[in-house]
Amino acid sequence: MLVYGTITMAGAESGSQKKVFDAEAASFLVKELRESFGSGRTRSYEWRVSQVKALLKAVVENEDQIVDALRSDLAKPPLETVVYEVGMFKNSCEVILKELKHWMVPEKVKTSISTFPSSAEIVPEPLGVVLVISAWNYPILLSLDPVVGAIAAGNAVVLKPSEIAPASSSLLAKLIEKYMDNSFIRVVEGAVDETTALLQQKWDKIFYTGNGKVGRIVMTAAAKHLTPVVLELGGKSPVVVDSNINLKVAARRIISGKWGLNNGQACISPDYIITTKDCAPKLVDVLKTELENCYGKNPLESEDLSRIVSSNHFARLSKLLNDDKVSGKIAYGGEKDEKKLRIAPTVLLDVPQDSLIMGEEIFGPLLPIITVNKVEESIDVINSGSKPLAAYIFTNNKKFKEQFVKNVSAGGLLVNDTVLHLVVHTLPFGGVGESGMGAYHGKFSFDAFTHKKAVLYRSFAGDASLRYPPYTDTKLRLMKALIGGSIIGIIRALFGWS
Ligand code: NAD
Repeated sequence: MLVYGTITMAGAESGSQKKVFDAEAASFLVKELRESFGSGRTRSYEWRVSQVKALLKAVVENEDQIVDALRSDLAKPPLETVVYEVGMFKNSCEVILKELKHWMVPEKVKTSISTFPSSAEIVPEPLGVVLVISAWNYPILLSLDPVVGAIAAGNAVVLKPSEIAPASSSLLAKLIEKYMDNSFIRVVEGAVDETTALLQQKWDKIFYTGNGKVGRIVMTAAAKHLTPVVLELGGKSPVVVDSNINLKVAARRIISGKWGLNNGQACISPDYIITTKDCAPKLVDVLKTELENCYGKNPLESEDLSRIVSSNHFARLSKLLNDDKVSGKIAYGGEKDEKKLRIAPTVLLDVPQDSLIMGEEIFGPLLPIITVNKVEESIDVINSGSKPLAAYIFTNNKKFKEQFVKNVSAGGLLVNDTVLHLVVHTLPFGGVGESGMGAYHGKFSFDAFTHKKAVLYRSFAGDASLRYPPYTDTKLRLMKALIGGSIIGIIRALFGWS
Protein backbone atom coordinates (compact mmCIF):
# COMPACT_ATOMS: atom_id res chain seq x y z
CA MET A 1 0.00 0.00 0.00
CA LEU A 2 1.24 3.47 -0.81
CA VAL A 3 1.10 5.62 2.29
CA TYR A 4 0.66 9.16 1.10
CA GLY A 5 0.47 10.39 4.65
CA THR A 6 4.24 10.53 4.75
CA ILE A 7 4.88 11.87 1.30
CA THR A 8 6.43 15.29 1.27
CA MET A 9 6.60 17.83 -1.55
CA ALA A 10 6.19 16.68 -5.12
CA GLY A 11 9.34 15.06 -6.32
CA ALA A 12 10.74 14.49 -2.83
CA GLU A 13 12.80 11.37 -2.29
CA SER A 14 11.15 8.51 -0.44
CA GLY A 15 13.67 5.73 -0.17
CA SER A 16 15.07 5.32 -3.66
CA GLN A 17 11.70 5.97 -5.28
CA LYS A 18 10.51 9.42 -6.39
CA LYS A 19 6.83 9.86 -5.61
CA VAL A 20 4.76 12.69 -6.96
CA PHE A 21 1.52 13.59 -5.28
CA ASP A 22 -0.70 14.27 -8.27
CA ALA A 23 -4.43 14.00 -8.98
CA GLU A 24 -4.13 10.25 -9.44
CA ALA A 25 -2.46 9.83 -6.07
CA ALA A 26 -5.04 12.13 -4.48
CA SER A 27 -7.88 10.13 -5.99
CA PHE A 28 -6.32 6.89 -4.72
CA LEU A 29 -5.97 8.39 -1.25
CA VAL A 30 -9.59 9.52 -1.08
CA LYS A 31 -10.81 6.16 -2.37
CA GLU A 32 -8.82 4.36 0.30
CA LEU A 33 -10.14 6.61 3.06
CA ARG A 34 -13.70 6.24 1.78
CA GLU A 35 -13.39 2.49 1.97
CA SER A 36 -12.04 2.76 5.51
CA PHE A 37 -14.79 5.17 6.49
CA GLY A 38 -17.32 2.71 5.08
CA SER A 39 -16.26 0.20 7.74
CA GLY A 40 -18.10 2.37 10.26
CA ARG A 41 -15.26 2.33 12.80
CA THR A 42 -14.95 6.08 13.10
CA ARG A 43 -18.57 6.31 14.23
CA SER A 44 -17.99 4.75 17.62
CA TYR A 45 -17.37 6.87 20.69
CA GLU A 46 -14.43 4.63 21.59
CA TRP A 47 -12.59 5.19 18.27
CA ARG A 48 -13.12 8.95 18.43
CA VAL A 49 -11.87 9.19 22.01
CA SER A 50 -8.88 6.95 21.32
CA GLN A 51 -7.84 9.21 18.42
CA VAL A 52 -8.37 12.47 20.33
CA LYS A 53 -6.23 11.03 23.13
CA ALA A 54 -3.60 9.87 20.63
CA LEU A 55 -3.36 13.32 19.08
CA LEU A 56 -3.15 14.94 22.50
CA LYS A 57 -0.38 12.49 23.42
CA ALA A 58 1.48 13.30 20.19
CA VAL A 59 1.50 16.97 21.11
CA VAL A 60 2.26 16.56 24.82
CA GLU A 61 5.12 14.10 24.26
CA ASN A 62 6.65 16.26 21.52
CA GLU A 63 6.25 19.74 22.93
CA ASP A 64 9.98 20.43 22.67
CA GLN A 65 10.01 19.41 19.00
CA ILE A 66 7.04 21.67 18.35
CA VAL A 67 8.82 24.58 20.04
CA ASP A 68 11.92 23.89 17.89
CA ALA A 69 9.90 23.63 14.66
CA LEU A 70 8.23 26.98 15.31
CA ARG A 71 11.55 28.55 16.22
CA SER A 72 12.86 27.33 12.89
CA ASP A 73 9.82 28.46 10.86
CA LEU A 74 9.15 31.80 12.55
CA ALA A 75 11.60 32.35 15.43
CA LYS A 76 8.44 32.09 17.49
CA PRO A 77 9.15 32.67 21.23
CA PRO A 78 8.72 29.39 23.17
CA LEU A 79 6.16 31.00 25.49
CA GLU A 80 3.93 31.86 22.55
CA THR A 81 4.24 28.33 21.19
CA VAL A 82 3.49 26.73 24.54
CA VAL A 83 0.49 28.98 25.21
CA TYR A 84 -1.10 29.58 21.80
CA GLU A 85 -0.22 26.46 19.83
CA VAL A 86 0.19 23.68 22.39
CA GLY A 87 -1.92 25.05 25.28
CA MET A 88 -4.90 25.99 23.17
CA PHE A 89 -4.85 22.64 21.42
CA LYS A 90 -4.72 20.81 24.76
CA ASN A 91 -7.74 22.82 25.92
CA SER A 92 -9.65 21.85 22.77
CA CYS A 93 -8.91 18.17 23.41
CA GLU A 94 -9.92 18.42 27.05
CA VAL A 95 -13.26 20.01 26.15
CA ILE A 96 -13.90 17.25 23.60
CA LEU A 97 -12.96 14.47 26.01
CA LYS A 98 -15.27 15.95 28.65
CA GLU A 99 -18.25 16.69 26.41
CA LEU A 100 -18.13 14.31 23.44
CA LYS A 101 -20.42 11.63 24.85
CA HIS A 102 -23.06 14.25 25.48
CA TRP A 103 -22.61 15.86 22.02
CA MET A 104 -23.10 12.49 20.32
CA VAL A 105 -26.46 11.81 21.95
CA PRO A 106 -29.38 12.32 19.54
CA GLU A 107 -31.53 15.26 20.58
CA LYS A 108 -35.21 14.45 21.15
CA VAL A 109 -37.46 17.13 19.67
CA LYS A 110 -41.19 17.84 19.72
CA THR A 111 -43.38 16.73 16.83
CA SER A 112 -46.48 18.38 15.45
CA ILE A 113 -50.10 17.36 15.59
CA SER A 114 -50.06 16.68 11.86
CA THR A 115 -47.73 13.69 12.39
CA PHE A 116 -49.52 12.35 15.51
CA PRO A 117 -48.69 9.77 16.76
CA SER A 118 -44.91 10.14 16.24
CA SER A 119 -41.61 10.98 17.88
CA ALA A 120 -38.56 12.73 16.44
CA GLU A 121 -34.89 13.29 17.06
CA ILE A 122 -31.87 14.96 15.54
CA VAL A 123 -29.13 12.40 15.05
CA PRO A 124 -25.60 13.78 14.69
CA GLU A 125 -23.68 11.81 12.06
CA PRO A 126 -20.19 12.19 10.60
CA LEU A 127 -19.95 13.78 7.16
CA GLY A 128 -17.46 11.25 5.79
CA VAL A 129 -14.02 12.06 4.40
CA VAL A 130 -12.92 15.64 4.98
CA LEU A 131 -9.98 17.82 3.95
CA VAL A 132 -8.28 20.34 6.23
CA ILE A 133 -5.97 22.89 4.58
CA SER A 134 -4.09 25.04 7.06
CA ALA A 135 -1.93 28.17 7.16
CA TRP A 136 1.63 28.95 8.24
CA ASN A 137 1.22 31.46 11.05
CA TYR A 138 -0.04 29.04 13.74
CA PRO A 139 0.90 25.94 11.81
CA ILE A 140 0.33 23.45 14.63
CA LEU A 141 -2.86 24.82 16.15
CA LEU A 142 -4.52 25.72 12.84
CA SER A 143 -3.83 22.19 11.60
CA LEU A 144 -4.66 20.12 14.65
CA ASP A 145 -7.63 22.08 16.00
CA PRO A 146 -9.83 21.44 12.94
CA VAL A 147 -8.46 17.89 12.64
CA VAL A 148 -9.42 17.03 16.22
CA GLY A 149 -12.89 18.51 15.59
CA ALA A 150 -13.25 16.31 12.51
CA ILE A 151 -12.15 13.23 14.47
CA ALA A 152 -14.51 14.03 17.36
CA ALA A 153 -17.31 14.17 14.81
CA GLY A 154 -16.31 10.71 13.51
CA ASN A 155 -14.80 11.58 10.12
CA ALA A 156 -11.78 10.36 8.17
CA VAL A 157 -9.41 13.30 7.62
CA VAL A 158 -6.64 14.45 5.32
CA LEU A 159 -4.55 17.34 6.59
CA LYS A 160 -2.59 19.55 4.18
CA PRO A 161 -0.34 21.78 6.32
CA SER A 162 1.24 24.95 4.96
CA GLU A 163 4.45 24.65 2.99
CA ILE A 164 5.44 28.14 4.21
CA ALA A 165 6.16 26.63 7.66
CA PRO A 166 8.16 23.58 6.48
CA ALA A 167 9.55 22.40 9.82
CA SER A 168 6.07 22.35 11.36
CA SER A 169 4.63 20.67 8.28
CA SER A 170 7.16 17.87 8.34
CA LEU A 171 6.77 17.41 12.11
CA LEU A 172 2.98 17.15 11.72
CA ALA A 173 3.41 14.49 9.04
CA LYS A 174 5.75 12.50 11.29
CA LEU A 175 3.58 12.77 14.39
CA ILE A 176 0.36 11.83 12.63
CA GLU A 177 1.99 8.86 10.98
CA LYS A 178 3.41 7.69 14.29
CA TYR A 179 0.54 8.33 16.70
CA MET A 180 -2.68 8.17 14.70
CA ASP A 181 -4.80 5.48 13.06
CA ASN A 182 -3.56 5.96 9.48
CA SER A 183 -6.45 4.01 8.01
CA PHE A 184 -8.47 7.16 8.63
CA ILE A 185 -6.11 10.07 9.30
CA ARG A 186 -3.39 11.21 6.89
CA VAL A 187 -1.16 14.14 6.13
CA VAL A 188 -0.25 15.28 2.63
CA GLU A 189 2.55 17.81 2.59
CA GLY A 190 3.03 20.14 -0.30
CA ALA A 191 2.26 23.44 -1.94
CA VAL A 192 -0.04 24.63 -4.75
CA ASP A 193 0.29 21.53 -6.97
CA GLU A 194 -0.48 19.08 -4.19
CA THR A 195 -3.35 21.20 -2.86
CA THR A 196 -4.75 21.51 -6.37
CA ALA A 197 -4.64 17.71 -6.75
CA LEU A 198 -6.46 17.35 -3.44
CA LEU A 199 -9.03 19.99 -4.36
CA GLN A 200 -9.93 18.11 -7.53
CA GLN A 201 -11.34 15.27 -5.42
CA LYS A 202 -14.80 14.93 -3.97
CA TRP A 203 -14.72 15.62 -0.22
CA ASP A 204 -17.56 15.72 2.27
CA LYS A 205 -16.26 18.98 3.71
CA ILE A 206 -13.29 21.24 3.13
CA PHE A 207 -12.02 23.29 6.03
CA TYR A 208 -9.63 25.96 4.77
CA THR A 209 -7.62 28.50 6.77
CA GLY A 210 -5.76 31.21 4.87
CA ASN A 211 -6.28 34.24 2.68
CA GLY A 212 -9.43 35.14 0.75
CA LYS A 213 -7.84 34.82 -2.68
CA VAL A 214 -7.10 31.13 -2.15
CA GLY A 215 -10.41 30.87 -0.25
CA ARG A 216 -12.11 31.63 -3.57
CA ILE A 217 -10.07 28.91 -5.31
CA VAL A 218 -11.09 26.44 -2.62
CA MET A 219 -14.76 27.37 -2.84
CA THR A 220 -14.75 27.15 -6.63
CA ALA A 221 -13.24 23.66 -6.50
CA ALA A 222 -15.72 22.63 -3.79
CA ALA A 223 -18.69 23.92 -5.80
CA LYS A 224 -17.93 21.42 -8.54
CA HIS A 225 -18.80 18.59 -6.16
CA LEU A 226 -21.35 20.53 -4.05
CA THR A 227 -18.95 20.14 -1.14
CA PRO A 228 -19.64 22.41 1.84
CA VAL A 229 -16.78 24.57 3.07
CA VAL A 230 -15.62 26.35 6.17
CA LEU A 231 -13.42 29.28 5.22
CA GLU A 232 -11.37 30.74 8.06
CA LEU A 233 -10.04 33.91 6.45
CA GLY A 234 -8.69 37.22 7.71
CA GLY A 235 -9.28 40.91 7.25
CA LYS A 236 -8.48 44.29 8.78
CA SER A 237 -9.44 43.97 12.44
CA PRO A 238 -9.88 47.46 13.93
CA VAL A 239 -9.28 48.65 17.49
CA VAL A 240 -11.31 51.63 18.63
CA VAL A 241 -9.81 53.56 21.53
CA ASP A 242 -12.07 55.99 23.39
CA SER A 243 -10.66 58.80 25.55
CA ASN A 244 -11.20 58.77 29.33
CA ILE A 245 -10.07 55.16 29.71
CA ASN A 246 -7.07 53.54 31.37
CA LEU A 247 -4.73 54.07 28.41
CA LYS A 248 -1.90 52.11 29.97
CA VAL A 249 -3.98 48.95 30.31
CA ALA A 250 -5.43 49.45 26.82
CA ALA A 251 -1.96 49.92 25.29
CA ARG A 252 -0.60 46.79 27.02
CA ARG A 253 -3.56 44.74 25.80
CA ILE A 254 -3.10 46.05 22.26
CA ILE A 255 0.62 45.19 22.40
CA SER A 256 -0.15 41.69 23.63
CA GLY A 257 -2.69 41.12 20.82
CA LYS A 258 -0.50 42.66 18.11
CA TRP A 259 3.20 42.05 18.67
CA GLY A 260 2.74 39.34 21.34
CA LEU A 261 0.92 37.22 18.77
CA ASN A 262 3.55 36.16 16.29
CA ASN A 263 4.65 39.78 15.75
CA GLY A 264 1.36 40.76 14.16
CA GLN A 265 1.17 37.72 11.89
CA ALA A 266 -2.15 36.54 13.29
CA CYS A 267 -5.61 36.60 11.77
CA ILE A 268 -7.20 38.43 14.71
CA SER A 269 -4.25 40.70 15.33
CA PRO A 270 -5.22 44.40 15.70
CA ASP A 271 -4.76 45.75 12.18
CA TYR A 272 -5.31 49.46 12.81
CA ILE A 273 -6.43 51.81 15.57
CA ILE A 274 -9.15 54.42 15.35
CA THR A 275 -9.09 57.10 18.02
CA THR A 276 -9.89 60.78 18.43
CA LYS A 277 -7.49 63.52 17.39
CA ASP A 278 -7.18 64.51 21.08
CA CYS A 279 -6.47 61.03 22.34
CA ALA A 280 -4.02 59.94 19.59
CA PRO A 281 -0.83 61.67 20.88
CA LYS A 282 -1.46 60.39 24.43
CA LEU A 283 -2.03 56.86 23.11
CA VAL A 284 1.17 57.01 21.04
CA ASP A 285 3.16 58.08 24.12
CA VAL A 286 1.82 55.22 26.22
CA LEU A 287 2.39 52.72 23.39
CA LYS A 288 6.01 53.90 23.08
CA THR A 289 6.67 53.49 26.82
CA GLU A 290 4.98 50.12 27.05
CA LEU A 291 6.60 48.80 23.86
CA GLU A 292 9.99 49.70 25.27
CA ASN A 293 9.11 47.97 28.55
CA CYS A 294 8.23 44.83 26.62
CA TYR A 295 10.91 44.67 23.90
CA GLY A 296 13.69 46.99 25.10
CA LYS A 297 15.47 49.75 23.22
CA ASN A 298 16.53 47.48 20.38
CA PRO A 299 13.50 45.34 19.51
CA LEU A 300 15.21 43.87 16.44
CA GLU A 301 17.33 41.89 18.90
CA SER A 302 14.42 40.86 21.12
CA GLU A 303 13.97 37.12 21.63
CA ASP A 304 10.33 37.79 22.42
CA LEU A 305 9.32 38.76 18.89
CA SER A 306 8.78 36.36 16.00
CA ARG A 307 10.50 37.11 12.72
CA ILE A 308 8.68 37.70 9.45
CA VAL A 309 7.92 34.33 7.90
CA SER A 310 9.51 34.79 4.47
CA SER A 311 11.35 37.26 2.24
CA ASN A 312 8.14 37.67 0.20
CA HIS A 313 6.21 38.81 3.24
CA PHE A 314 9.19 40.97 4.31
CA ALA A 315 9.10 42.69 0.91
CA ARG A 316 5.32 43.12 1.09
CA LEU A 317 5.52 44.77 4.52
CA SER A 318 8.47 46.96 3.43
CA LYS A 319 6.38 48.18 0.50
CA LEU A 320 3.57 49.20 2.86
CA LEU A 321 6.09 51.13 4.94
CA ASN A 322 7.80 52.76 1.95
CA ASP A 323 4.55 54.08 0.46
CA ASP A 324 4.88 57.85 -0.14
CA LYS A 325 1.50 58.40 1.48
CA VAL A 326 2.86 57.29 4.87
CA SER A 327 6.28 58.92 4.66
CA GLY A 328 6.87 60.93 7.82
CA LYS A 329 4.02 59.14 9.62
CA ILE A 330 6.15 56.73 11.66
CA ALA A 331 5.68 57.66 15.32
CA TYR A 332 7.65 54.71 16.71
CA GLY A 333 9.84 51.93 15.30
CA GLY A 334 10.34 51.38 11.60
CA GLU A 335 13.67 49.53 11.95
CA LYS A 336 14.21 46.49 9.71
CA ASP A 337 16.84 43.80 9.26
CA GLU A 338 16.33 42.15 5.89
CA LYS A 339 18.92 39.41 6.44
CA LYS A 340 17.27 38.24 9.65
CA LEU A 341 13.75 38.93 8.33
CA ARG A 342 13.03 41.13 11.33
CA ILE A 343 10.84 44.21 11.54
CA ALA A 344 10.47 46.14 14.78
CA PRO A 345 7.08 47.07 16.27
CA THR A 346 6.06 50.14 14.30
CA VAL A 347 3.34 52.68 15.03
CA LEU A 348 2.22 55.11 12.33
CA LEU A 349 0.12 58.14 13.19
CA ASP A 350 -2.55 59.74 11.02
CA VAL A 351 -2.19 57.57 7.94
CA PRO A 352 -4.55 58.47 5.09
CA GLN A 353 -7.33 55.99 4.27
CA ASP A 354 -6.11 55.66 0.67
CA SER A 355 -2.59 54.56 1.67
CA LEU A 356 -1.39 51.05 0.78
CA ILE A 357 -1.29 50.08 4.44
CA MET A 358 -5.03 50.79 4.79
CA GLY A 359 -5.82 48.93 1.56
CA GLU A 360 -4.95 45.39 2.67
CA GLU A 361 -4.65 43.19 5.76
CA ILE A 362 -1.27 44.11 7.25
CA PHE A 363 -0.42 40.74 8.85
CA GLY A 364 2.80 42.03 10.39
CA PRO A 365 4.24 44.36 13.03
CA LEU A 366 2.98 47.66 11.57
CA LEU A 367 0.14 49.43 13.38
CA PRO A 368 -1.38 52.53 11.78
CA ILE A 369 -3.56 54.92 13.76
CA ILE A 370 -6.29 56.86 12.04
CA THR A 371 -7.96 59.76 13.79
CA VAL A 372 -11.55 61.02 13.89
CA ASN A 373 -13.17 64.02 15.55
CA LYS A 374 -15.64 61.99 17.61
CA VAL A 375 -15.10 58.36 18.61
CA GLU A 376 -18.63 57.45 17.43
CA GLU A 377 -17.47 58.12 13.84
CA SER A 378 -15.37 54.94 14.11
CA ILE A 379 -18.47 52.83 13.46
CA ASP A 380 -18.93 54.36 10.00
CA VAL A 381 -15.20 54.02 9.27
CA ILE A 382 -15.33 50.29 10.08
CA ASN A 383 -18.59 49.70 8.23
CA SER A 384 -17.23 51.41 5.11
CA GLY A 385 -14.81 48.48 4.67
CA SER A 386 -15.22 44.69 4.48
CA LYS A 387 -16.48 42.88 7.56
CA PRO A 388 -13.42 42.05 9.68
CA LEU A 389 -12.64 38.83 11.53
CA ALA A 390 -12.49 40.70 14.84
CA ALA A 391 -13.26 44.20 16.09
CA TYR A 392 -12.04 45.60 19.40
CA ILE A 393 -13.27 48.56 21.40
CA PHE A 394 -11.80 50.16 24.52
CA THR A 395 -14.34 52.37 26.25
CA ASN A 396 -16.09 53.08 29.55
CA ASN A 397 -19.06 54.59 27.77
CA LYS A 398 -21.98 52.18 28.13
CA LYS A 399 -24.03 53.77 25.38
CA PHE A 400 -21.15 53.71 22.87
CA LYS A 401 -20.35 50.10 23.73
CA GLU A 402 -23.97 49.10 23.06
CA GLN A 403 -24.00 51.08 19.81
CA PHE A 404 -20.79 49.32 18.73
CA VAL A 405 -22.05 45.81 19.54
CA LYS A 406 -25.31 46.52 17.72
CA ASN A 407 -23.92 48.20 14.60
CA VAL A 408 -20.50 46.67 13.86
CA SER A 409 -20.55 43.37 12.00
CA ALA A 410 -17.43 41.22 12.48
CA GLY A 411 -16.58 37.56 13.10
CA GLY A 412 -16.23 38.42 16.78
CA LEU A 413 -16.21 41.49 19.02
CA LEU A 414 -14.23 42.10 22.16
CA VAL A 415 -14.76 44.96 24.57
CA ASN A 416 -11.79 46.32 26.53
CA ASP A 417 -9.27 43.72 25.42
CA THR A 418 -7.87 42.05 22.32
CA VAL A 419 -7.78 38.44 21.06
CA LEU A 420 -9.11 36.76 24.23
CA HIS A 421 -12.49 35.86 22.72
CA LEU A 422 -10.51 33.18 20.87
CA VAL A 423 -9.91 31.18 24.04
CA VAL A 424 -13.55 31.02 25.15
CA HIS A 425 -14.65 27.65 23.80
CA THR A 426 -18.33 28.44 24.25
CA LEU A 427 -17.99 31.19 21.62
CA PRO A 428 -17.92 30.30 17.89
CA PHE A 429 -14.74 31.37 16.10
CA GLY A 430 -15.15 32.31 12.45
CA GLY A 431 -15.65 35.16 10.04
CA VAL A 432 -18.49 36.85 8.24
CA GLY A 433 -18.51 38.22 4.68
CA GLU A 434 -14.93 38.67 3.46
CA SER A 435 -13.52 37.30 6.73
CA GLY A 436 -14.97 33.86 6.08
CA MET A 437 -17.86 31.50 6.64
CA GLY A 438 -18.58 28.81 9.19
CA ALA A 439 -17.07 28.58 12.64
CA TYR A 440 -15.34 26.21 15.03
CA HIS A 441 -13.93 25.80 18.58
CA GLY A 442 -15.56 23.76 21.34
CA LYS A 443 -18.92 22.29 20.32
CA PHE A 444 -18.83 24.41 17.15
CA SER A 445 -15.91 22.25 15.89
CA PHE A 446 -17.99 19.13 16.38
CA ASP A 447 -20.92 20.78 14.61
CA ALA A 448 -18.72 21.96 11.71
CA PHE A 449 -17.98 18.34 10.79
CA THR A 450 -21.36 16.84 11.68
CA HIS A 451 -24.56 16.43 9.73
CA LYS A 452 -27.65 16.91 11.86
CA LYS A 453 -29.89 14.19 10.52
CA ALA A 454 -33.62 14.67 11.02
CA VAL A 455 -35.37 11.43 12.00
CA LEU A 456 -39.13 11.01 12.46
CA TYR A 457 -40.52 7.79 13.96
CA ARG A 458 -44.06 6.57 13.35
CA SER A 459 -45.83 3.33 14.06
CA PHE A 460 -48.57 1.61 12.07
CA ALA A 461 -51.24 2.99 14.37
CA GLY A 462 -53.30 6.08 13.55
CA ASP A 463 -53.45 5.53 9.80
CA ALA A 464 -56.19 8.10 9.17
CA SER A 465 -57.85 8.06 5.76
CA LEU A 466 -57.57 11.84 5.66
CA ARG A 467 -54.44 12.02 3.52
CA TYR A 468 -55.56 9.48 0.95
CA PRO A 469 -57.78 10.03 -2.10
CA PRO A 470 -60.58 10.33 -2.85
CA TYR A 471 -60.25 13.90 -1.54
CA THR A 472 -63.44 15.40 -0.07
CA ASP A 473 -64.45 18.76 1.32
CA THR A 474 -64.34 17.37 4.86
CA LYS A 475 -60.82 16.09 4.29
CA LEU A 476 -59.81 19.46 2.90
CA ARG A 477 -61.27 21.28 5.95
CA LEU A 478 -59.53 18.86 8.30
CA MET A 479 -56.24 19.12 6.46
CA LYS A 480 -56.40 22.92 6.63
CA ALA A 481 -57.08 22.72 10.36
CA LEU A 482 -54.23 20.23 10.84
CA ILE A 483 -51.79 22.44 8.96
CA GLY A 484 -52.94 25.35 11.16
CA GLY A 485 -52.14 23.11 14.13
CA SER A 486 -55.07 24.25 16.30
CA ILE A 487 -57.01 21.60 18.23
CA ILE A 488 -60.13 23.77 18.23
CA GLY A 489 -59.87 24.13 14.45
CA ILE A 490 -59.60 20.36 14.08
CA ILE A 491 -62.66 19.75 16.31
CA ARG A 492 -64.64 22.35 14.35
CA ALA A 493 -63.64 20.70 11.07
CA LEU A 494 -64.56 17.24 12.39
CA PHE A 495 -68.03 18.46 13.27
CA GLY A 496 -68.35 20.34 10.02
CA TRP A 497 -68.51 23.74 11.77
CA SER A 498 -65.79 25.43 9.75
P1 NAD B 1 -0.64 30.04 3.41
O1 NAD B 1 0.27 30.69 2.42
O2 NAD B 1 -0.07 29.05 4.37
O3 NAD B 1 -1.82 29.39 2.57
C1 NAD B 1 -2.84 28.65 3.21
C2 NAD B 1 -2.98 27.32 2.52
O4 NAD B 1 -3.42 27.53 1.18
C3 NAD B 1 -1.69 26.55 2.45
O5 NAD B 1 -1.90 25.24 2.90
C4 NAD B 1 -1.30 26.61 0.99
O6 NAD B 1 -0.61 25.49 0.54
C5 NAD B 1 -2.65 26.74 0.31
N1 NAD B 1 -2.55 27.41 -0.98
C6 NAD B 1 -1.82 28.49 -1.29
N2 NAD B 1 -2.01 28.85 -2.59
C7 NAD B 1 -2.90 27.96 -3.10
C8 NAD B 1 -3.50 27.78 -4.38
N3 NAD B 1 -3.23 28.60 -5.39
N4 NAD B 1 -4.36 26.75 -4.54
C9 NAD B 1 -4.65 25.93 -3.53
N5 NAD B 1 -4.10 26.05 -2.30
C10 NAD B 1 -3.24 27.04 -2.08
O7 NAD B 1 -1.35 31.09 4.32
P2 NAD B 1 -1.81 32.56 4.00
O8 NAD B 1 -2.97 32.54 3.08
O9 NAD B 1 -0.66 33.46 3.72
O10 NAD B 1 -2.33 32.89 5.47
C11 NAD B 1 -2.53 34.18 5.90
C12 NAD B 1 -3.99 34.55 5.76
O11 NAD B 1 -4.79 33.59 6.45
C13 NAD B 1 -4.33 35.88 6.36
O12 NAD B 1 -5.29 36.51 5.57
C14 NAD B 1 -4.93 35.51 7.70
O13 NAD B 1 -5.79 36.47 8.25
C15 NAD B 1 -5.64 34.24 7.37
N6 NAD B 1 -5.75 33.40 8.55
C16 NAD B 1 -6.98 33.18 9.06
C17 NAD B 1 -7.11 32.44 10.20
C18 NAD B 1 -8.46 32.18 10.82
O14 NAD B 1 -8.53 31.35 11.72
N7 NAD B 1 -9.51 32.84 10.39
C19 NAD B 1 -5.99 31.92 10.83
C20 NAD B 1 -4.75 32.16 10.26
C21 NAD B 1 -4.63 32.90 9.12
